[in-house]
Amino acid sequence: MTDKLHEECGVVAIYGHPEASKLAYLSLYALQHRGQESAGISASDGQDIRTTKSMGHVAEIFTNPVLAQLPGKLAIGHTRYSTAGDTVERNAQPFSVSCNKGRISVAHNGNITNAQELRAELESQGAIFQASSDTEVILHLVAHSREKTLPLALREALLRLEGAFSLVFLAEDRIIVARDPRGFRPLAVGQLENSGGKPGWVFASETCAFDLISAVYLYDCQPGEMISVGPEGVVRERYAPEKPRSQCVFEHVYFSRPDSLVFGRSVQDSRELMGRLLAIEAPAPADIVVPVPDSGNAAAIGYGSESGLPYRQALIRNHYVGRTFIEPSQAIRDFGVKLKLNPVRSLLEGKSVVLVDDSIVRGTTSRKIVRMVRQAGAREVHLRISCPPTVSPCFYGVDTPDKRELIAANSSVEEIRKFVEADSLAYLSLGALERAVQDTKGEYCYACYTGNYPTEIVSVDQLMRAGRKI
Ligand code: AMP
Repeated sequence: MTDKLHEECGVVAIYGHPEASKLAYLSLYALQHRGQESAGISASDGQDIRTTKSMGHVAEIFTNPVLAQLPGKLAIGHTRYSTAGDTVERNAQPFSVSCNKGRISVAHNGNITNAQELRAELESQGAIFQASSDTEVILHLVAHSREKTLPLALREALLRLEGAFSLVFLAEDRIIVARDPRGFRPLAVGQLENSGGKPGWVFASETCAFDLISAVYLYDCQPGEMISVGPEGVVRERYAPEKPRSQCVFEHVYFSRPDSLVFGRSVQDSRELMGRLLAIEAPAPADIVVPVPDSGNAAAIGYGSESGLPYRQALIRNHYVGRTFIEPSQAIRDFGVKLKLNPVRSLLEGKSVVLVDDSIVRGTTSRKIVRMVRQAGAREVHLRISCPPTVSPCFYGVDTPDKRELIAANSSVEEIRKFVEADSLAYLSLGALERAVQDTKGEYCYACYTGNYPTEIVSVDQLMRAGRKI
C-alpha cells in the first residue's frame, strides 16, 4: 500500500457546549466541500471519548440516533477527500488511541512531507499502523514521547513533523489545536454563545463553519502556534520557531468557500479581484462573460465589472449529482460533464463568449465545457483562467496530479488552447495573483504555479511526482 500523499480535508473542534457533537456535525456540513469521501466525529463527556466515522457525506452518516451516541461538551470532526486507491474506511478520521497520556483523538488537514521516514522509524521501534494515512504517525509520536503531559508530548511530536498540518486534538478534558510553522493550511478560532454559561470555543478550517452555528470569528491560530482549551481556560503558546509563511494560495483560488475568511481575508474579495485583474491583463473581444459554475463565479463577476461586459449565467449546474448514477449502456459523449452542467442556448446563440474558470488541471473538463458552449451556439469562446498555469503537484494537502498529468507542465499556452478548442486562452499572471490575495509580504505558497517548494523534497515519491531526476 502506498502512502497517501495528498489529502483535502476540513477540520473542526468544539469546546464547552452541551451539544458539542451536533455543532461539530453542523460545522462539518458547512465544510463538506473540503472532502466528500468520509467524515467522522469524536466526542468527550469528560470520562470517555467516543468516535463515529464512515465513508460518505456528513448528512448521510450523522443521523439523530448516531449523534445521540456522541454525548459531551467537547468534540472534534473531520471530513476527507482522497484519491482512488486509498478510499478505505480505515483511513477515515478522527483517529483515536489510548496511551500513557490518556485517550486522545486527532483530526488533520494537510500533508506531512516526512511521514514515510517517521513511519519507518516508528515501525522499527515496534509501532503498528492501522491505516495508510500519515495522521496516525502523529499519534504514535505522542504515545512514544517520554514527556509526561499531553501538551508537552504534543509539542515534542509536532516539532518532528515537516510539511502542512492544521490539527485538532481531543483529550478527555481538553481541546488542543496546532498549525505548522509555515501555516500552509488555515485554522480559524471563534467563540460560541452559550445560553447562561461560559462562552464556548470553536476551531475550523474555514469561517463559513462559524456562521452556521452563530459563532464569532476571533483570530487565526498562528503558524507555529498551539492553543489549548481546558478547565483552566485558554492557553496560546508558540511551540516552534518562526519560519517564512507559506499560506496556500489555492485556498483562495478554488478550494475554500467564497463566504469564508481564509488567512484573515475574504475569499470572495480575492476571487473578484482575480477576475478584475484578469480582465485588465487579458481582455477579450466578446459580448458576454460566463462563469463555469461554481468555481468560476466570483472571478467572472470581477471580469464582468472591470470589462463592462454583461455577466450571464449561461451554464446551469445540477447541484443534486450524487456519487453514483446509472449511465445508459450506449455511451453518450461527454456524459459526466453533461450531468453536471447544461448550457442556456438562448443566452449563448450567436455570441462571442468569455468563459471564466479557476484552473485547468488536466484540461479534459475545460475541453468538454468549451465544446458544450460552442454546441449551444456560441460564435467564439475565449477561455480565461483566474490563476497562473498549474505546473507542479502539491505536497501540502491539495490533490493535484503528478507533473506528467498536468497539461501546463507539458504544453505551451498555445498548445493548451488548441487542446481545449478555445478561440483564445489566457491565464492570470503570478504578480496579479499576489495582488489579488494582497500578498504584500510574500506570505503565500505558489508552488503549484512555480515549482518552488518551501520545504525540502524529501522522498523518492515526491521527487517522482515533481518530475525530478532521481
Ligand atoms: P481538468 O482541467 O479537466 O483536470 O479540471 C479542471 C477543473 O477541476 C476546474 O474546473 C477546477 O475547478 C477543478 N479543480 C481544480 N483543482 C481541483 C482540485 N484540487 N480538486 C478538485 N477539483 C479541482
